[in-house]
Parts: sequence; structure tokens; C-alpha cells
Amino acid sequence: MTSTSSTLALRCATCRRTYPLSDLPWKCGGCHGVLDLAGFTPAMPTLTDLATRRPTLWRYAEALPIPEPPDVTMGEGLTPLVTAPGQPGVALKADYLMPTGSFKDRGAVLLAALAARLGVTRLMADSSGNAGTAIAAYATRAGIACDVYVPADTSAGKIGQLRAYGATVHQIPGTREDTARAAARAADEPGVFYASHVYNPVFLHGTKTYVLELWEQLGGRLPDTLVLPVGNGTLVLGAYLGSVELRDQNLIDRLPRIIAVQAAGCAPLASAFREGLPAPAEIITQSTVAEGIAIARPARGSQILAAVRASGGAIVTVTDTAVHAAHAALARCGLYVEPTSAVCWAAIQAGLVPATPLHDGAPAIVAPLCGSGLKSKPPA
Ligand SMILES: [Zn+2]
Repeated sequence: MTSTSSTLALRCATCRRTYPLSDLPWKCGGCHGVLDLAGFTPAMPTLTDLATRRPTLWRYAEALPIPEPPDVTMGEGLTPLVTAPGQPGVALKADYLMPTGSFKDRGAVLLAALAARLGVTRLMADSSGNAGTAIAAYATRAGIACDVYVPADTSAGKIGQLRAYGATVHQIPGTREDTARAAARAADEPGVFYASHVYNPVFLHGTKTYVLELWEQLGGRLPDTLVLPVGNGTLVLGAYLGSVELRDQNLIDRLPRIIAVQAAGCAPLASAFREGLPAPAEIITQSTVAEGIAIARPARGSQILAAVRASGGAIVTVTDTAVHAAHAALARCGLYVEPTSAVCWAAIQAGLVPATPLHDGAPAIVAPLCGSGLKSKPPA
């Protein structure tokens, strides 16, 4: 361990109790609160420093809590910004061009690197999609055995991808929450490293590179507005974390406004935001085409609500009809993403994102294209 990583610890967001990383806790043993990373001070490299570095997210080494794992990285990061069709002022960040086809590679590579440094020989994850495949891919590169818990109705394509990476797939009957419960039981076994994209805060230090890249790609500034899909909040919380770190280093004046987008059929965060609640609302779930964000009880829900409010943003919803239309419109522009990735475009098209003027020709609004359309069922 380097002197930096040896000072890292996990701290409960609720009761502030701290735990060593080597204890492999995934939530607070006292109050069951979620854990955040403590004992790490990020430093953003200058634009001049960055000019000579390789085009991966590891170019921000000083801002990351884990050193680059040379044998594990697949060159993930620094995805292109693409012009949005017919919408000057809006740019789309093509995170579906990552090694496993989704933005989840940003966090998965950090978790695999952490597991390797901790000497873990087996890890587990639960995911109905992109997070599980990303973690399985980076685990196999790190030489770490991987168990993935998925709902029994997960598409054959996704299960095939997991097995191809060498993961042991556990198909759990019932809902996504039943899968999460089965995973939690497995995670509580001694010596298990739960490589959770939701609970492990190191994952968020990976997804924050989305914002660090934007800062660099826009010449040392952030857009006024970040439009982001939200289910478990891995991208919203990562984007917020990165923005706060840039502000704390005086590299931006103010936080970008976060407009987070949920599917109308599963919107506990949008409901809570509307009602001014501090935690996700109890909701009746309906099915939605945006399966990647259909999360009824997001574990970091309170943190997501606080982040969006602190940014001066909002949480909005879009209907499946609007998502289908946005998905088709993006494909007609050459951008073949999974339906979940179309929710932000749907929100922009529906006028749910306040218009912002251009700054010297740079985009004022940026939304991600999170996952490849090649992994999802073709649209009906
Ligand atoms: Zn606690």
C-alpha cells in the first residue's frame, strides 16, 4: 500500500463511525447506514499536466484514491463529446463507448483495483445489467473470481456476457429487491468483498471522472447543467462528488445544476423531491422500458436528494412513450444506445431542462449516453 491508500477508511454517512477498508464492510455495522470514503484529499492535475497524459481516466491519478492497476485497466475513460442534433448548446457524452459498453466501467475498474490491493481472491456483485458485466470484466482481468447475483428474468444476452467473462451467475427468482436481499446475505459472509456499485463509495470516485473529463474537455470549466439518469444514483453522486472537489480546489466558481431524470413508472426520488422529503418516497412500482434506473428503494436515496438540492437542480420524470421516441431519435442521429440512456434526451425534448445560453460556443447542457444499444433487446 502507498502512504495515500494506507490512510483511506470507510465512514458511516449517518453515525460517522469509521472502518478500515481491510475489514471489507459494505455498510455500517452499528446503524446500517451507507459508507463514504474518508482519509483522501484529491488534487486535480492542471490542463498543462494533462496535455501529455494518456487518454484514459487514469490521467487524473492525483484525484483518484486508488493507483492505476497496469494489468487491469482497459484504457477506459475520456469518452467523446458529441453534438446533439438540432440543439445547439447541448452536448452528449458518449460513455457507451467504454470497454464493456457502459459508464459503469469508470467505477468497476476502481473496485477491481481496490480488491486486488486488498488481496481479495473472490468478489461478488449484484446487478441486473451494466454494473455486473463491468465488474465481471475487470475482476477477470485482475485474476479475481467473481459471483454475480441477477434477477431470474435477466436477458440471455446479459447472462451470456457475464459467463463469457468467467463469472458465476446466480439467477434469483422474484424482483430486483429479492436479488438485492440474496446478494446482501452473501455479502455478509466473512471474507467476502462485495463489489457493490451502490454501497462501495470507491465506485463513486470512479464515476466522478465523468465530470473531471468534462472540465478538461471544456477547457477548464463545467457546463451550467448536467442532465443525468437516476436510479441508484451512481452517476449523480459521482458527478456531484467531482463537482464539489473541483469547487473546493477553486477550479470552478459554482456547482453545475443537476437535473436528474427518472422513469415515470418507478420514480421514488422524483416523488420525494416534489414533496420536499429527505428520503425516497414509498412508491408503487410499474414496469418501465428504462430498466437500468428502475430502482424502487435506492440505498443512497437521501444522499441523492441532498446532492440535487445542493446543486440547485431538480428530479424530473419522463414517460415510456417519451423514452421510446427519444431512443428512436438518437438512433436516427447515429447514436444507438440502450433505452435507459434515452431518458435524458427525452427530458430535454420535453422541455424539462431549463434552456441556458451558450458560453463562447461551448455547450451549457451535457447529458450522458450511458450504455450501448447492442446489449439491450431491440425496440419493438
Ligand atoms: Zn452508522
